[in-house]
Amino acid sequence: MIIAGTLMLEAPMRQMRLAAGWLLVEDGRIVEVHESDCPHTPDLGGDRHLVFPGFVDTHLHLPQFDCIGADGLKLLPWLEQVIYPAEAQWEDADFAGAATERAIMQLLARGTTSFAAYTTVHHDATRAAIRCAAEMNVRAIIGQTLMDQQAPPELIRPAQQLLDETESLLSAGAVGRVTPAVTPRFAVSCSETLLRGCGALTRAYDAPVQTHLAETQKECQAVYDLHDKMDYTELYLQAELLTPRTIFGHGIWLDAAARMLIAEAGSTIAHCPTANAFLNSGTMDRHAHHMAHVKTCLGSDLGAGTERGMVRVAQSMIQAAKSIGRLPPTPAEAWHQITIGNADALGFEQVGRLQAGAEADLLLIEPDVNWRQAVNPLACLLYAWDDRWLDRVILRGQVR
Ligand SMILES: [Zn+2]
Repeated sequence: MIIAGTLMLEAPMRQMRLAAGWLLVEDGRIVEVHESDCPHTPDLGGDRHLVFPGFVDTHLHLPQFDCIGADGLKLLPWLEQVIYPAEAQWEDADFAGAATERAIMQLLARGTTSFAAYTTVHHDATRAAIRCAAEMNVRAIIGQTLMDQQAPPELIRPAQQLLDETESLLSAGAVGRVTPAVTPRFAVSCSETLLRGCGALTRAYDAPVQTHLAETQKECQAVYDLHDKMDYTELYLQAELLTPRTIFGHGIWLDAAARMLIAEAGSTIAHCPTANAFLNSGTMDRHAHHMAHVKTCLGSDLGAGTERGMVRVAQSMIQAAKSIGRLPPTPAEAWHQITIGNADALGFEQVGRLQAGAEADLLLIEPDVNWRQAVNPLACLLYAWDDRWLDRVILRGQVR
């Protein structure tokens, strides 16, 4: 299959650039990338189209899509009053499978073809979600959300049961393009026994880890009180959860010592600016993290996040930096973040880029703005973005 148009390609220094060209796609992969006029009649695309890699979301919650917009609460009461009742519905694995399908349809409709997601504490529901995502042919990391304390009784399980269930997911390995992850929710709802068990599983299976860290000050205080006056990051370090494959959601309220631990471990912080604004949690200082050599990626954090599309989350990332007086990322850097940058953070070197050998997860875009005449075409496309521009979403070479 030949796909032609203006290609979104990687540029040096974590930027992106646009160039006219075409792709040859065979057996679900990009085989050739050309920056030249297409010598054939393309099967898809043409002069009016742009061809982007599918977007990547590094932090979201599959059971929370129907909770978007529950306004007026801070993190901990929002969890108790809105989220835990919603997650309790995943007791029914069929409900979970249907909810996952609905969530992925919404992501694909906004150009997100890869993601990292939390489910709930329910094991059968997590298996149903993994199966559904694999059948829908997305590339994803999905983990059973582990809680053994400080949550409603119907949502907590004994630590050993949760560790056994997670191990059964890890030992089964990837299903299609879906990789299981070790997913302790956060240190408020996890005992030290559970956290240390998670660390042991992570090491034994070289598994990805996703959890939350320092989203709000009240949460940090709760961790301090519940875990024998331990520092939040230090607690994860002692549980061996600071690994190069760990994605920490939020990481807003971190001091220099915590940043140093995270940088030394090579872990990544998922910046979730729309969610942080919605729950009034604070503003992550992306620039300060980078100055301390802490890696960051970008996530929607649905359903605390109110935006299902990564382009608008990228706009919010720029706005968040401006709001605290930091030099904001450029639009070219924002495009890099939601494609290659996020893919690399999740260890997905095979998606998020238009390169020979990459999986052909692609977006065919037809904007209704005259971006070619813009002072900065990448800025114009970022800020004028409209999901209705998505003409086709292609997963592994298959047009949806
Ligand atoms: Zn989250």
